[in-house]
Amino acid sequence: MRFTDFQFHPAVNSGIAACGYTTPTPIQEKAIPLILAGRDILGLAQTGTGKTAAFVLPLLQRLQSGPRRKVRALVVAPTRELAEQIHENIGKMAIQTGLKSAVVYGGIGKQPQIGKIRAGAEIIVACPGRLLDLLNEKVFNLDNIEVLILDEADHMLDKGFLPAIRRIIKQLPTKRQSLVFSATMPREICHLAEEILKDPARVQINHSLPAPTISHALFLVDKERKTALLKSIIREREMASTLVFTRTRHKAKSLALHLQKAGFSVSSLQGDLSQQKRQKALDGFRQRTFKILVATDIAARGIDIEGISHVINYDVPDTSETYTHRTGRTGRASHAGQALTFACQEDSRTIALIEQALGKKMTREFSPDFAGETEMNPGEERSEKPAGRSMPRKRKKGFSPGRRKTGNVRACSCDFGISRLVSR
Ligand code: AMP
Repeated sequence: MRFTDFQFHPAVNSGIAACGYTTPTPIQEKAIPLILAGRDILGLAQTGTGKTAAFVLPLLQRLQSGPRRKVRALVVAPTRELAEQIHENIGKMAIQTGLKSAVVYGGIGKQPQIGKIRAGAEIIVACPGRLLDLLNEKVFNLDNIEVLILDEADHMLDKGFLPAIRRIIKQLPTKRQSLVFSATMPREICHLAEEILKDPARVQINHSLPAPTISHALFLVDKERKTALLKSIIREREMASTLVFTRTRHKAKSLALHLQKAGFSVSSLQGDLSQQKRQKALDGFRQRTFKILVATDIAARGIDIEGISHVINYDVPDTSETYTHRTGRTGRASHAGQALTFACQEDSRTIALIEQALGKKMTREFSPDFAGETEMNPGEERSEKPAGRSMPRKRKKGFSPGRRKTGNVRACSCDFGISRLVSR
């Protein structure tokens, strides 16, 4: 199938060409005809599947006819980064349509956003809090909304946005088309979808599986040795662009600082940063000024950066869904990507769940240069290593049998087990 088969308006086709798309992705192939036919949609799609274009292209087609300079479509997203990204994508796809979008989120001044809405935007891309503020202040209203899109609905739930979403829905005309996209389908989202959607078509694309272009490796490592392992891997492998995930903001900050002091080109993205600093970190990573970005889940959710070659789970994610979200940052649009996960003994249950979701075991690996990292560089590891504890120098029994060399890195066929941690 090709995009020309959808018979979009020539102005929409120009946008598709401007984005360089020729063949629709599976979610686009399934969802676009249904949305064009006016159906409500419940889309179960993981990140990186092309779901943004799946809803933006038929939206632009619909808005081509009808009044201009009225707010006719509302896209609600859980994070500023995702809202900004959708807005940018609309900008590219709508380039020849004359349709405009305005983005609305907190943390920055309202006036420029209000200015864009008043200048005649037909599409608003918004995070719930700031949207409600502007609606309460009667900056604009939702009376003319024809299409509602809720993106990453499960993440709205994680962030406690469902009450805000319900308040927004109440202000929408009942006659409208509604599209809900979510990577996972917890019970609360099923209920919300029932409230919002009328006779929806369900479109599902391997929602619990990361893209097949991603390889999955597991490094079994003591907690105190993770930073040394990370540095060893970054030095030893060719990594064009690496996204490192930590569990906490504090860790993202301190790890980025540590790597920077050790001479790596790195920035961090975490919730403590001002919007301006977040954008700077993202732009720097996108333009490869920084080859490494250390981020938390909340900060990184929804970011879409081309060509991320590696995702490193410095801390194991809490759920298999989060694993899918994180690793979905690489291997996008059919490019190969590598996901590397550092796991400690206490992570064994989560790893088992992730592997169950993946339907396969991750490749057990270790870094041959890692032995060189046992010596501490003055001032480097101190904050991470409990005082007075020395690391065993010998690899523990049970790790070496069955290992094999795979390029630069030897892989080990051992199972995940307590005695098999990389700790020399
Ligand atoms: P999304 O899932 O919307 O975040 O999209 C993931 C990535 O795939 C983005 O970089 C899009 O620009 C890209 N993409 C979306 N649709 C297509 C397509 N049909 N062909 C090639 N790339 C696409």
